[in-house]
Amino acid sequence: MKKQISGWGKNISSNVNISFPKNLNQLKKKIKKNCIARGMGRSYGDSSFQRKNTIVLTNLNKIIEFDKKKGVIELEAGISIKEILQNIIPHGWFLPVTPGSKYITIGGMIASDVHGKNHHKIGSFRHQIIEFKIIDKKKNLISCSKKKNINLFNYTIGGMGLTGIIYSCKFKLLKISSHKIYQEKFRCKNIYETIKNFKGSAAWPYNVAWLDTSAKGKSLGRSILFRAKHLKDKKTNKIKTNFLDNKVITLNNYFPNWLMNSFTINILNKLYYNFSFNKNNLTNINNFFYQLDKIKNWNLIYGKKGFISYQFVLPLKNSTKAIIDILNILNKNKVYSFVSVIKSLGKNDGYLSFGIKGLTLVFDFPNNSNTYSVLNKIDQVIIKNKGNIYLCKDSRISHSNFFKMKSNFYNKEFTKIRKGIKNKFYSEQSLRLNI
Ligand SMILES: Cc1cc2nc3c(=O)[nH]c(=O)nc-3n(C[C@H](O)[C@H](O)[C@H](O)COP(=O)(O)OP(=O)(O)OC[C@H]3O[C@@H](n4cnc5c(N)ncnc54)[C@H](O)[C@@H]3O)c2cc1C
Repeated sequence: MKKQISGWGKNISSNVNISFPKNLNQLKKKIKKNCIARGMGRSYGDSSFQRKNTIVLTNLNKIIEFDKKKGVIELEAGISIKEILQNIIPHGWFLPVTPGSKYITIGGMIASDVHGKNHHKIGSFRHQIIEFKIIDKKKNLISCSKKKNINLFNYTIGGMGLTGIIYSCKFKLLKISSHKIYQEKFRCKNIYETIKNFKGSAAWPYNVAWLDTSAKGKSLGRSILFRAKHLKDKKTNKIKTNFLDNKVITLNNYFPNWLMNSFTINILNKLYYNFSFNKNNLTNINNFFYQLDKIKNWNLIYGKKGFISYQFVLPLKNSTKAIIDILNILNKNKVYSFVSVIKSLGKNDGYLSFGIKGLTLVFDFPNNSNTYSVLNKIDQVIIKNKGNIYLCKDSRISHSNFFKMKSNFYNKEFTKIRKGIKNKFYSEQSLRLNI
């Protein structure tokens, strides 16, 4: 079947041959000359598709085994976080690492090696994986773990689908006794206070801050910081999951392209900062972890031209000065973002993973030529400060800038793995970056 598809940013799309295999046999048959796996298409750019053969895994969504006592689960790679939560929460388990949306598959979580609001405590998803099975170029199903097929294990995690198609994954879960979350929320006046409060909140399991990219001068880098922990509730033994569907607004049509411009985003930023008051309260898993899911198809707000997401990480040592430089570049060029998030990352996850000990920032910008030229300038700040960008958000970096970031995608080990499969597993993104 031919279909026009894009990533979540909707800023670039392709007319692709797409298929939706229903089981392992059908999946193997679809791996012809060349292909790329796709989950729920929540990566923002062009990593989840290629013109000739894009294979969507969402029908392979079975739970293979669930040890409810030990909290170990094995799943097919196309299952979504929402489907997993519906099955594990009632038994008192939660994902040890979760991204900010429930509409993401396990395959996508491994391929991007996702991080959550607890990276400062436990690192990325990589560290929770016991084993996964991947289909290689000869259609063999290969088990990979820290002891078996070690290289393939290490470089598939964070490998953006470029080592084969992940069929299943076994990993550890996190014990919880309630679906409730205790949250504290408070304003930070500028970037120094934001960073100080991240340090002061390091003992909390979850930390994240929304950043006001429109703030200038003494208020540059002001933010709203959220820190949270799971509530301990001895009375609850069977937790219901209907709260996962709470209050969803659905957008069915694109908004006009002009709606999200520097003027309106500036106003939204000011309103959000000024009307967010310091507060401690009880909330639930859905409200804390998956806020953006409450507006279904929120990506339509940016109009038909879509938007450009940009996420980078900077080593802790260089981070404050570099973040100030970046926020000043945005301000000078009047390029603002409303969905702007800062998180503290606790360790170097290694291999192809994005995580290094430092600070990560993510922005969503309206799609126009000014944004592209500003992001080229910001790339230079990241290169100079030995940072990196997150490929699952990327749709535009040039090969030369990505190469200068000294990404392990160009190291000897990964080049060796890619030799012989470069023409078999590739995406529009891997072609652009020559990886
Ligand atoms: C609202 C929102 C919030 C987010 N928050 C976070 C966050 O907090 N932290 C974070 O780390 N990320 C976050 N992300 C990014 C998201 O976690 C990643 O982009 C993830 O990879 C998307 O999964 P997917 O199933 O949609 O995969 P797709 O977007 O379809 O694919 C992403 C990549 O995974 C590969 N892939 C998918 N399935 C397989 C498979 N079975 N085998 C091999 N390769 C495969 C694809 O080839 C592609 O390279 C967020 C995204 C959104 C939309």
